Amino acid sequence: MTALYPHIVYGPVRSRRLGLSLGVNLLPLEAKLCTFDCIYCECGWNGDNTGSHRFNDREEVAAALESALVAMAAEGQLPDVITFAGNGEPTMHPEFEGVIEDTIALRDRYAPSAKISVLSNATQLHRADVIRALERVDNNILKIDSLDEDVARLINKPCCNYSVANVVEQLKLFKGKVIVQTMFLRGEYEGKRVDNTTEEQIVAWLDALRAIAPQSVMVYSIARDTPCKTLQKVEREELEQISARVESLGITCSVA
Ligand code: SF4
Repeated sequence: MTALYPHIVYGPVRSRRLGLSLGVNLLPLEAKLCTFDCIYCECGWNGDNTGSHRFNDREEVAAALESALVAMAAEGQLPDVITFAGNGEPTMHPEFEGVIEDTIALRDRYAPSAKISVLSNATQLHRADVIRALERVDNNILKIDSLDEDVARLINKPCCNYSVANVVEQLKLFKGKVIVQTMFLRGEYEGKRVDNTTEEQIVAWLDALRAIAPQSVMVYSIARDTPCKTLQKVEREELEQISARVESLGITCSVA
């Protein structure tokens, strides 16, 4: 079963890659809200839940984060990272820049060594406020799953005008202050073969990485239940091989 995050602040969870991570969900608590509807989304399909589509208020987010940080400080266990993810696309929040400003202030006050990470699908980069906010976070993690527009549309099912070529140009503008995240998978969706691990796909993706010159790359595959049931996980060994090809470009790459 796919699952939603029922709280604004969740965790902390310990991960090998991030350390102790405190999650922040700006999206509705009863429904997923995203500009993509990825066939692998752990939150399920956009249409699955018909709950309220209200973003969590900036003030509520700051209050929830502050009380979580105060509680963690009292236990002597501060987070290594504060991660914006949750039930959809965090940068859709109308006050995303203000939320990041509050988060930086709270981080500086209660957990000065914690990093701030944002996991985003890069569909809001037409907004100057979103770009300004992403430039201020420590880990600006943006998704590109395929350089082929048709394959990207099949995997990510964008609900808006989406062009991977455009996203590559937008990512270049971060001048290296960006982390590219890619989900690798194979399978079938609506009778069509899905595979972003073919040699052609990988070569195009590596070319894009060369052009973007990100601070690092994160590759991963399916770890939990997915709304599309006909997908297969790409095994770690193969992800390691893909990662080695990224590293040969002089770009750090981690396998989740
Ligand atoms: S971008 Fe993230 S939240 Fe949105 S559909 Fe894809 S996996 Fe789910």
